[in-house]
Amino acid sequence: MSTNEELYERGLRVIPGGVNSPVRAFRSVGGTPYFVARAEGPYVWDCEGRQLVDMVQSYGASILGHADPQVVSAVREAAGRGSTYGAPTEGEVLLAEELTARYPGLEQVRLVSSGTEAAMSALRLARGVTGRSRALKFSGNYHGHSDALLAAAGSGVAEGVIGTDVVPDSAGVTAGAVVDTIVAPYNVVPTLDESVAVVCVEPVAANMGLVPPVPGFLEGLRAECDRVGALLLYDEVITGCRLAPGGATERFGVQPDVWCFGKVIGGGLPVGAFGASADVMAALAPTGPVYQAGTLSGNPLATAAGLTVMQALDADAYEQLETTAKALATGLRLAFDAAGVPAVVPRCGPLVGIFFGSEAPIDFDSASESVAIGRYPAFFHGMLDRGVALAPGPYEIMFPSLAHTDAHLEQVVGVAHEVATELARSA
Ligand SMILES: *Cc1c(COP(=O)(O)O)cnc(C)c1O
Repeated sequence: MSTNEELYERGLRVIPGGVNSPVRAFRSVGGTPYFVARAEGPYVWDCEGRQLVDMVQSYGASILGHADPQVVSAVREAAGRGSTYGAPTEGEVLLAEELTARYPGLEQVRLVSSGTEAAMSALRLARGVTGRSRALKFSGNYHGHSDALLAAAGSGVAEGVIGTDVVPDSAGVTAGAVVDTIVAPYNVVPTLDESVAVVCVEPVAANMGLVPPVPGFLEGLRAECDRVGALLLYDEVITGCRLAPGGATERFGVQPDVWCFGKVIGGGLPVGAFGASADVMAALAPTGPVYQAGTLSGNPLATAAGLTVMQALDADAYEQLETTAKALATGLRLAFDAAGVPAVVPRCGPLVGIFFGSEAPIDFDSASESVAIGRYPAFFHGMLDRGVALAPGPYEIMFPSLAHTDAHLEQVVGVAHEVATELARSA
């Protein structure tokens, strides 16, 4: 049996940073990543046999908890029938029907293999449909790692003047790739003009910690897009089918023109989807001029897992998720208070975040100020040492699943109280 340390060392030799996605690295918290050997329900076990209560749940992709028996058997059965054909299948139709039934206005979807692909393709579609070039995104919102959406506000961006100073948010992304991207602060309705094809937004920001939309933000975006004829795109890769059957769209009652999905809808297998009205989607190949394709798109294993999850997500499931998240958020808040550690625990439906400091952030700047307090690494390691796995980065959130029961939450909250007490002492 290999230890975490051994696997990490071997991984470092053959995989950059030892990880296949940088969010899994321990760079911002320090230490050696745990290598997962297996997982079940709310737990993961590392390769050394250590059991952890898992609040990561693949960043929300495992909403039923890990290795749900129904998902496992659906995937097994599907695998026995062959894993990819290069021809359409019933599963794709069924998953598309599940999605469109949950979202009024979403008439058609195209399945892809990741959230990144969904957002990248939706952006191309929006540009193709409107005949316009510019895309607006919000600072601190994540839409995957396609070039045009890896843009950040430069340091010289003037208040109220959008798009004056946008810089690539990664080496290898050219200035040309982001020249048509505008970056604006979250939770402020930007003033658009008729050069804007699309406004991309996480309706609840969940990649800069948890930052819900302030009242009027989504309504304001809808009105401003309508005023200039731009499309409004909700990136519901995290919120989709999670905040409600119809995600953030249903929860906040403001309908976009284009949607992106991922994570939840694949039941732990690689899936993404983007969709819109039939009119807008008609612009896609093969019926329209906007090209988009994928060898493994709508993969039979992924649609089998996704369908099983969607069918399990009934009214009771949403109520349970919400109750669980409420108990977690309340428990954590009390734990920080009792320990005298200033922290806020924002919650939106089943999503829960943690920010150190006494103010709840409303945008990327205020989220960064909280992160700069620098308490997350010690909190993370304190939790991990006591058997609770959080994401190894301060901008990630917690994903309580349907497999997390009161007993698991009590364990998480109890451990958080111990760790917070220790933090207070060491401050
Ligand atoms: C995770 C995420 C993505 C990217 O999805 P991948 O499947 O990792 O490519 C896009 N948008 C949001 C909001 C996400 O949280």
